[in-house]
Amino acid sequence: MKFLCDEMLKRLGRWLRAAGYDTVIEGDGVGDRDLIQRAVREGRLLITRDRKLTEFREAPEVVILLRSNAVQDCIQELTGRLGIDWTFQPFTRCLVCNTPLTEAAPEQWCKVPRRSRVTVKHLFYCPQCGKVYWEGGHVRRMRGKLAAWRAGGRG
Ligand SMILES: [Zn+2]
Repeated sequence: MKFLCDEMLKRLGRWLRAAGYDTVIEGDGVGDRDLIQRAVREGRLLITRDRKLTEFREAPEVVILLRSNAVQDCIQELTGRLGIDWTFQPFTRCLVCNTPLTEAAPEQWCKVPRRSRVTVKHLFYCPQCGKVYWEGGHVRRMRGKLAAWRAGGRG
């Protein structure tokens, strides 16, 4: 499954990326028809809370209209409706730009704080925006939430 979220669901979109799903987050300036067309063209499900998007002819195939508001509730709703596996391929995509991550080159270790270098074993890097990721406290907490959601909990 591949996804397209509108700007309103940016946080949900980032969690889908964290789980490893290919997820495009469109900015505010994009029109409704363009959103629908992109979803169709790229084979993505368009996740939205905007009821207007369900009025397009193509909507039954591509639009997932969420009723929930809080990100936590959206996650529960989406899990129930689409069977999202939150531990699908965690931390294989850049949270910022959705690009698949690659193993970082040795010289990129300078971006890891010195005190963490001893404990961090793998460093990943986004070839598109240059962000580096490692298994620190932040990633561990996110993994904990993903695992809880997979088990049907609220994280
Ligand atoms: Zn990136």
